[in-house]
Amino acid sequence: MQITFRQVSHTYQPGSPFQSTALSNIDFTVESGEFLALIGHTGSGKSTLAQHINGLLKPTSGQVLIDGSDIHADGYSKKTLRQKVGMVFQYAEHQLFEETVEKDIAFGPKNLGLDEAEITIRVQEAMEKVGLEYDEFKEKSPFELSGGQMRRVAIAGVLAMRPEVLILDEPAAGLDPMSREEMLQLIKALHEKGTTIVMISHSMDDVARFATRVLVMKKGTVAMDGTPEEVFSQVELLHSIGLAAPDTVELCWELNKIGFHLPLDKLSTEDCAQALYDAVKA
Ligand code: ADP
Ligand code: MG
Repeated sequence: MQITFRQVSHTYQPGSPFQSTALSNIDFTVESGEFLALIGHTGSGKSTLAQHINGLLKPTSGQVLIDGSDIHADGYSKKTLRQKVGMVFQYAEHQLFEETVEKDIAFGPKNLGLDEAEITIRVQEAMEKVGLEYDEFKEKSPFELSGGQMRRVAIAGVLAMRPEVLILDEPAAGLDPMSREEMLQLIKALHEKGTTIVMISHSMDDVARFATRVLVMKKGTVAMDGTPEEVFSQVELLHSIGLAAPDTVELCWELNKIGFHLPLDKLSTEDCAQALYDAVKA
């Protein structure tokens, strides 16, 4: 599944005193199988962009195309779209509402009109993907779970629709270090099994570890677009946007100021350590 933004602009509350342009002429294409990270300052338009991908928001001008079809054209099925493109909102656990975990996860598949047996299969499958044991958790109230578990229930509800693309708005925000890592490993596993991922994140280190491509947003425009190595090695440009590179790159950048000649595309701790070792030995 291919997602294309063609000259997409979005203005909130046009014509009112609160008018605010959140996206300006956004152009890009996401191909099947990518793990795209969206980064940028608060207010740069990341969430607005994400909500255009599954049609929750409509461009004020421009088009969003899925496999070449305009999702706002007459006759385009929004229902199919929302099934294929799953959206996990920021603090998704706040939207849990059913009395049991099973009912909550079954909500989407039920709306698809699937029969009971198929719904149960979908719920079991989704719970397995997020690492929640079906028999142990199905009857529990979502509200007796830990924050990390609740968020996984919310994600399972989206996965039960079997989306081809999963959009996650800051999925690790507010979790303790262990739940954070579990969440990231879960997203990594989904990507490895073929789901296209679009993840909004504030953590450059997480983005460096998991993304195959990085889109940097600045005041409603795409300021940078490339592989993590391409984007994060442009330290000065990132700083000018008010962002930092991952710690590994920042370290090399600082050392270069005092006479080292280190490469700026060693993102992992291991590669960075190796580059430092080589430089010190030479
Ligand atoms: P990000 O997710 O990068 O923090 P957003 O997409 O939430 O950015 O916001 C982009 C811009 O749009 C900001 O200036 C924000 O104030 C504005 N905005 C977001 N949501 C609304 C809304 N519902 N009504 C009016 N303005 C909004
Ligand atoms: Mg946001």
